[in-house]
Amino acid sequence: MINHFIDGKGVESISGRTFLSENPATGETIAEVARGDAEDVDRAVRSADAAFLDWSRVAPAERGKLIYKLADLLMERREEFARAESEDSGKTYRSNLNIDVPFCADFFRYYAGAADKLRTPVPNNEPGIHRYAVREPYGVIGAIAPWNFPLVMATLKLSAALACGNTVVMKMAEQTPATVTMLAELAIEAGIPAGVFNVVHGFGNEAGQALVQHPKVKKIAFTGSSAIGKLLGEQCGRMTKPALLEMGGKSANIIFADADVEMAVNGALQASLGNNGQFCLAASRILVEESIVPRFTEALVERARSIRLGDPFDASTNCGPIISQKQFERVTGYVEVGKSENARLLTGGKRPDHLKKGYFLEPTVFGEMTPDMRIWREEIFGPVVGITPFRSEDEAIALANDCDYGLGAYFWAKDVDRVHRVSAALDAGLVFVNMPAYMTPIMPAGIRNMSGTGQNFGLEALENYTKLKGVYINYSGRIFPWLK
Ligand code: ADP
Repeated sequence: MINHFIDGKGVESISGRTFLSENPATGETIAEVARGDAEDVDRAVRSADAAFLDWSRVAPAERGKLIYKLADLLMERREEFARAESEDSGKTYRSNLNIDVPFCADFFRYYAGAADKLRTPVPNNEPGIHRYAVREPYGVIGAIAPWNFPLVMATLKLSAALACGNTVVMKMAEQTPATVTMLAELAIEAGIPAGVFNVVHGFGNEAGQALVQHPKVKKIAFTGSSAIGKLLGEQCGRMTKPALLEMGGKSANIIFADADVEMAVNGALQASLGNNGQFCLAASRILVEESIVPRFTEALVERARSIRLGDPFDASTNCGPIISQKQFERVTGYVEVGKSENARLLTGGKRPDHLKKGYFLEPTVFGEMTPDMRIWREEIFGPVVGITPFRSEDEAIALANDCDYGLGAYFWAKDVDRVHRVSAALDAGLVFVNMPAYMTPIMPAGIRNMSGTGQNFGLEALENYTKLKGVYINYSGRIFPWLK
């Protein structure tokens, strides 16, 4: 049984309702999960609200020490977390153990260290009046997280929010309730006071909506689909509640003819089909310079066919299953869309013959994809990628930017002038040159267009979780004469 985590302990839903969570690699039920609604959210928000004042008054360096401790404990328990994450999400155990969990620890440590480094520049003061600005936490942050990298997505929000002195109520995606609950238990063990980090499970239209609407939730931090992100943005706008929205992407990956083609093929593979393409930075539009289209395509298709699908706990597996039956149907629906739009299916598009159970889909590559197609414009969030030829640098840039999103962009080139020119011209918050996506807390990224709002990563992310207050102190002994 996976319960909510409220005020330092696991609790069932007030209604007693539950739902079932399954292992996507087998389709089997692995846990009964508390199904939260407005009453449970209210209980969690009250707990977070009550904990806020004390937590915000803990000296930032002390808060940092507790968050460092959380990172240490997470690394001590990394096998346990990696296992639970694999069972819950179908992500491979190896990547959870070696990439995701250490990455989360890095994030906690980065923001633990940043807790006492917030600065607020102020203009020069004039005689008689002293002015200063302070950054203050919001209060209760309502965090809504997706299923694709459950622990990482929870950590991105939690690490910076807690470091700044906020308290958090998190609604994890209904598909992946396990590891965030374990993380909340670990926070207590690290010495973070009860009520500072609460978790409510359940569905978006129940627990999620209750969190968004709750008057004591001072800011929403959401990661998920663009459709829901836009809806939440509109709702928050009506309540004048700030919302940090991290939504989808449809990244382009430009392969110039002067690139190291073999490296570009491997990089493109990872950037588009890693984690089954279930990540917002997935480079699902591959733009290839005309002269190397046949060579690149042949190599990419061959490499895509060699991706090993299977048991997430088998060390030789590259990708596990897609998250759910619903998502499997959505993604295979896009394969049909691509075919009906006359993109050329070069490989994949179906369940592998040897995997009868679970939601496995062969890595899928389309050729001859064009910008009028839905598979070009819409985020698929699955192992489906398309190739489009281009003739000039200008055309490649125009094609790359012909997209409603603005999260990431990739390109492969050797010419140093071109590297700077194209980096500047791409309309994306993150640009990766000659490499697949790489995440580090150090580098800031401003999300653009339909991909969302706000600054992620870096010290700049602290701005998402604090608001400025300007203080004016008059020590001149008089005030501006208004009525004489
Ligand atoms: P996906 O389609 O990939 O599951 P969603 O955007 O639907 O992405 O889900 C991301 C997160 O948003 C999940 O935690 C989900 O429960 C939550 N969510 C979905 N719909 C709503 C909603 N109407 N209000 C609040 N949260 C929601």
